[in-house]
Amino acid sequence: MSQADVLQNYINGEWRDANASDYLDVMNPATAERLAQVPLSSGHDVDRAAQAAAAAFKTWRRTPPTQRVQYLFRLKVLLEEQFEDLARTITMECGKTLAEARGELQRAIENVEIACGIPMMMQGTNLEDIATGIDEIMIRQPLGVAATIAPFNFPGMIPFWFMPYAIACGNTYIVKPSEKVPLTMQKVFRLVDQLGLPKGVLNLVHGSKEAVDAILDHPAIRAISFVGSTPVARYVYSRAAANGKRMQCQGGAKNPVIILPDADLDTTTRITADSAFGCAGQRCLAASVAVTVGEAKQRYTEAIAQAATDRVVGNGLDEQVQMGPVITPQSRTRIEQLIQQGADEGARVLVDGRSPNLTGCEQGNFVRPTILQDVDPNSAIAHTEIFGPVLSLIHVKTLDEAIALINSGQFGNMACLFTSSGAAARKFRYEAEAGNIGINIGVAAPMAFFPFSGWKDSFFGDLHGQGQHAVEFFTQTKVVVERWREDWSRQF
Ligand code: NAD
Repeated sequence: MSQADVLQNYINGEWRDANASDYLDVMNPATAERLAQVPLSSGHDVDRAAQAAAAAFKTWRRTPPTQRVQYLFRLKVLLEEQFEDLARTITMECGKTLAEARGELQRAIENVEIACGIPMMMQGTNLEDIATGIDEIMIRQPLGVAATIAPFNFPGMIPFWFMPYAIACGNTYIVKPSEKVPLTMQKVFRLVDQLGLPKGVLNLVHGSKEAVDAILDHPAIRAISFVGSTPVARYVYSRAAANGKRMQCQGGAKNPVIILPDADLDTTTRITADSAFGCAGQRCLAASVAVTVGEAKQRYTEAIAQAATDRVVGNGLDEQVQMGPVITPQSRTRIEQLIQQGADEGARVLVDGRSPNLTGCEQGNFVRPTILQDVDPNSAIAHTEIFGPVLSLIHVKTLDEAIALINSGQFGNMACLFTSSGAAARKFRYEAEAGNIGINIGVAAPMAFFPFSGWKDSFFGDLHGQGQHAVEFFTQTKVVVERWREDWSRQF
């Protein structure tokens, strides 16, 4: 491996070697080929980035919003020009298929587009004559330095839920990608380098826990957006909130889909298979439990078992492949152990994806789609995030029972219903305790102009990522009450 394969941080408009004591190999999960080495940056690197961002903030916040968004218009063009190369990079380091990689990049670009509307979105409110001759206005001002700490499963999209809004609102920013998939952001920052942004407005720091802790404790960093597993989200939220920072932390999930007997079987099967097995089940909005109601059980069980068996698994760079590997050998082992745990707790492994024999993919971290049938709703596996291509089937008699079951869970990221009944759909939308709801939709991912609304242990904070919520998160309100009496000044 040459020096060029060791990634660098991007701080104050320059590529710099990290002050790292350790490095990790970045691996292609489909082939076990080493792609690069990522530095585990120190607190010193975070401090440099935070200081550069703090210095840049002084002039960036005074740059008119109409000028700030010009850099984002340029970034959109560059992202579109490099779209295929970025998609291939996502597939190579993360394992998902090219179609899935293109999909996440598309959502990243949509967030850039929406953030270009900041001159409208960032406006405040006002009211004349709150009392006689007195007016009141509310203006939004940027916070200062903000940062994002990202997970491995959407290396091209998740930083874009936050970063474009943050800088368009006048903040300066630090991105800390997942150390498992640092290459996509490395390439995005090569594009950032071409934008002509003032130095220090956008910074990239690679690393893991040491860098994260330094971000959580740094006095210059005012706000942090975290996305990852629930235990780490809870830790990050608590530590940074105790330091007085504004926080939004998106955590893990265990997403249920309910299938009523009146649902269109073909559509439901196709959509729920895509949800459970797309991105090898490594989506925070992946269907993880299918709850069949009444007569839906038998027909759905047969159909989803067939869909699981038929799924084409392999290297995501092959356009024919429908599902790639999971991220690491450790993930594969954990998923296989959880399948066994389900069996030990009484479930039947109806389709078993463990130890697949995939010609040409012998070195990769593959688990084929797996179906656990007759999962006990009270078993641990019914409530554990597997984060792999495993769908648990649970059967109940009524919609009320199904809703009670999903509301008893710890997480609240997404819940979906498949039905042709408007009344059932309305009841579900009204009663289900999850922040993202799908009705005849398998992955209810909010568009860039809606908030990504996790609930319960899937989210810690108040304001979510994307759209208007992001604008509110990255600004602080200032209220001005004004009295200007005419008899105080010269009359004209
Ligand atoms: P993770 O929690 O292991 O890592 C996320 C980030 O936290 C990484 O940048 C990592 O470097 C850092 N980190 C990890 N351990 C840490 C520690 N002990 N102290 C400080 N920092 C630490 O998550 P992951 O495995 O990369 O991602 C998968 C998880 O993310 C799943 O649980 C998934 O549900 C969740 N996720 C949630 C959403 C959502 O919108 N709710 C979206 C995507 C992923």
